[in-house]
Amino acid sequence: MSKSMLIVMQLEELFLARSFLDGPVGLVPTMGYLHAGHISLVEKAGLECKGVIATIFVNPTQFGPTEDLEKYPRNIDGDLKLLEAAGVDVVWMPTAQIMYPPGYQTWVDVENMTKPLEGSMRPGHFRGVTTVVAKLFNATRPDRAYFGQKDAQQAAVIRQMTRDLSYPIEIIVCSTRREADGLAMSSRNSYLAPEQRLAAVVLFRALNAAQSAYKEGERNAERLRQVVRDIINLEPLAKLQYVSCADYETFQELEVVNSKALLSLAVFMGATRLIDNFILE
Ligand code: AMP
Repeated sequence: MSKSMLIVMQLEELFLARSFLDGPVGLVPTMGYLHAGHISLVEKAGLECKGVIATIFVNPTQFGPTEDLEKYPRNIDGDLKLLEAAGVDVVWMPTAQIMYPPGYQTWVDVENMTKPLEGSMRPGHFRGVTTVVAKLFNATRPDRAYFGQKDAQQAAVIRQMTRDLSYPIEIIVCSTRREADGLAMSSRNSYLAPEQRLAAVVLFRALNAAQSAYKEGERNAERLRQVVRDIINLEPLAKLQYVSCADYETFQELEVVNSKALLSLAVFMGATRLIDNFILE
């Protein structure tokens, strides 16, 4: 018989639930509206850990003032069913009041690698991410924490924070789950109108084309970025925000790709901002 999943909100309830878990304990932080990408993280945690904690928290501090915090999609009932079916032991769903009580004033900031790419487009985003993930780590005390390659810079920033703050936690990065046509799964895909959804495959097509060029020997980073631009620009519903071909460690733009690189892009489909990436190595 499968054990039942505990759903907790208050910190004290979480600490009690955590005390019943045998290690190693795996943590899967999410903002909810779960899809198969999230569940792949949970399943990997389940294979590698004895106890699995998932968190659902739409973290206000990682959203900019003009971003989609208020309308971020939510489906708690559906999320809990998926998490239970995937074998999660404890779900922690704190409120913003619990995470950031009145008078809150402590922040975690990874300095350099948060400046380019997503950091340059979303000022303050990574400070919100690292602060909340540090708080999730402190409260759940996992042995391993699972993140998606879909948010490649986020995973690298969290790995850096983990090292810098001496957390005894192994960061595990899981490959990007995609829809049948190649679109990276994302809670934000639910914003797309049907014609935008069809057109959104252009991100994957553009990354694929640049990867093919790389595999055929192209090492000039600007020419790889141009392959992406040319394909995105052919799609009238898509507006490229940035394309990057950057060093995988520092996220600084490359001239020549002669070490592990991240090819990444952000595209607006109407008001919906989508990101995706491939690793070149
Ligand atoms: P989010 O709920 O968007 O904050 O995502 C929670 C975690 O799931 C993050 O570590 C994401 O990188 C990861 N994730 C989101 N989409 C995918 C995907 N398509 N495949 C794998 N992991 C994903």
